[in-house]
Amino acid sequence: MNTPPPHSIHGIGRIGIVGGGQLARMMAEAAPAIGLSITVLDPAPNAPASDFAPQIVAAYDNLEALQALAAASDVVTIDIEAVSAASLAALEAANVRVAPSSNVLGIIQDKLLQKEFLSAAGLPVGRYAGVDKVEEVIAFGLPCILKARRHGYDGRGVKLVRTTAEASEFLRHGPCLAEEIVDIKRELAVMIARNTAGETALYPVVEAEFDPAANILNTIIAPALVSPEIAARCGEQAMQAVAALDGVGIFGIEFFLTHGGEVILNEISPRPHNSGHYTIEACATSQFEQHLRAVSGLPLGATTLVHPAASFNLLGAPDAHGEPAYRGLDTAAASPGVAVHLYGKHRVSPYRKMGHVTVTASERSEALQKANELQQLIRIEGSEQ
Ligand code: ADP
Repeated sequence: MNTPPPHSIHGIGRIGIVGGGQLARMMAEAAPAIGLSITVLDPAPNAPASDFAPQIVAAYDNLEALQALAAASDVVTIDIEAVSAASLAALEAANVRVAPSSNVLGIIQDKLLQKEFLSAAGLPVGRYAGVDKVEEVIAFGLPCILKARRHGYDGRGVKLVRTTAEASEFLRHGPCLAEEIVDIKRELAVMIARNTAGETALYPVVEAEFDPAANILNTIIAPALVSPEIAARCGEQAMQAVAALDGVGIFGIEFFLTHGGEVILNEISPRPHNSGHYTIEACATSQFEQHLRAVSGLPLGATTLVHPAASFNLLGAPDAHGEPAYRGLDTAAASPGVAVHLYGKHRVSPYRKMGHVTVTASERSEALQKANELQQLIRIEGSEQ
């Protein structure tokens, strides 16, 4: 099991992570450099993080396993929102340090509660309503966006519905959040860290390009091409949101910039986020190291953007099943300024996140152009095609 590192900076040396996916993996890669060690808990044997950290193989909500994780750790954090807030609350009741807290997770993992919370905190959100029945969707107004209140991620629980038939079909996901369709000009995001002392560190505002076919954000460009005034508004909203939550850790905050120039807060993730992967190569402190610093009480690191960057996910091809076969990655990896990250997943499926690539360059446009070229070149197929 996880022994305290001999050189921990300030006594909190052992971090337990519920979830052993790619986010935990990248935290585990960052940990030793700042004197921390990691244990993860994940139901899938040989989870991505297990290449870098000992793993407890158990369901996220297995209380005995969570207690074993807590016993091996000075603080427990998450890499996935699938763990229940009640399980984290049980650990807190046993005086385990948990960050982000069960309260924060409970608010964020229910999209309706999250919207209500943000709205009550005075943050600009679009018009929304909780809906369980098709009549409620009709009363809200069609067309609209429906989102499953729970367990939706990467656009899989989100749909623009135009007709009552489409609304009824989508409501099979269970209780939903209805949102007015926002007239989106750009999708923006910022990473923000907040530590136990309430200090915050804000990363630059980035821009996300959306891939309608995969319904997934596919290229993150840092910095975003927005005015300093818009960037400042995103930063202020991010700070206001994490302070209202009393959140500890790193948070990914997504915004919509409308054609009318409004900045609307879309949603918050209480963990490292896809839109912060670029920070590994492009910022003074990566989002993974920053998260570990925040939850363990270390001083937060500098968030300066050292180079412009563009990053994209490596997704399984639409028909990929079986063991992954990576096409074009050798060319990408040989190119200067290109960092390829693979998540060590043993099987590929359609659109599964298998890794990501970050391109850094002296100019933003150059990074973006190279990222787009590489995206055309790389394909992840499966052995069972
Ligand atoms: P997820 O948690 O699955 O990532 P999001 O809330 O980020 O879900 O929605 C996924 C995508 O759907 C967004 O990136 C955006 O492109 C689109 N979308 C979400 N909400 C709205 C909205 N209210 N109006 C217009 N488009 C939206």
